[in-house]
Amino acid sequence: MGKFELMALPYAVEALEPVISKETIAFHHGKHLAAYVNNLNGLLPGSGFEESTLEEIVLKAEGGMLNNAGQILNHELYFGQFASPKADNKPVGKLAEAITRDFGSFEAFKEEFQKKGATLFGSGWVWLSADKDGKLVITQEANAANPIQKGLKPLLTFDVWEHAYYLDYQNRRPDHLAALWQIIDWEIVESRRSK
Ligand code: MN
Repeated sequence: MGKFELMALPYAVEALEPVISKETIAFHHGKHLAAYVNNLNGLLPGSGFEESTLEEIVLKAEGGMLNNAGQILNHELYFGQFASPKADNKPVGKLAEAITRDFGSFEAFKEEFQKKGATLFGSGWVWLSADKDGKLVITQEANAANPIQKGLKPLLTFDVWEHAYYLDYQNRRPDHLAALWQIIDWEIVESRRSK
């Protein structure tokens, strides 16, 4: 029995179709994320991190522990932010106001976010985070990195590792990123912001 458990998906495996297929969700959650959980649990005994939270491990560990904990934290935020596709899906209320304040408009925000996802070389994640003053920022993080390592509060993320989209979109990462807006649960993003 390891300490960390594979998160349960808050929706059915087919709930995000056609934006993300059930096959991609099944592999991504049931194989890739599960492997990170198993790997981290295997590294815990004798590491000094047996009683630590994921966030503490990401902030303090190195090497394999950092990479596996980072991937678990990243994927929990990623899988936890989706809902079934909606037409004209966009943020409302205070979150919409903050996005307009810091990026000019929701359209300008989406354009910058997609561009930073499309141009991230290799594997990694593009993030929307809040800084210590509540200002919203977009960052590219390589491999398993998380914005908490920069003192930021992560709100929204797109996974640009090929395993996130290759079955459905092959090499067309920009098309995948453009489609993801349909399945963002903006109430969850706002709950992270206002926490
Ligand atoms: Mn992934």
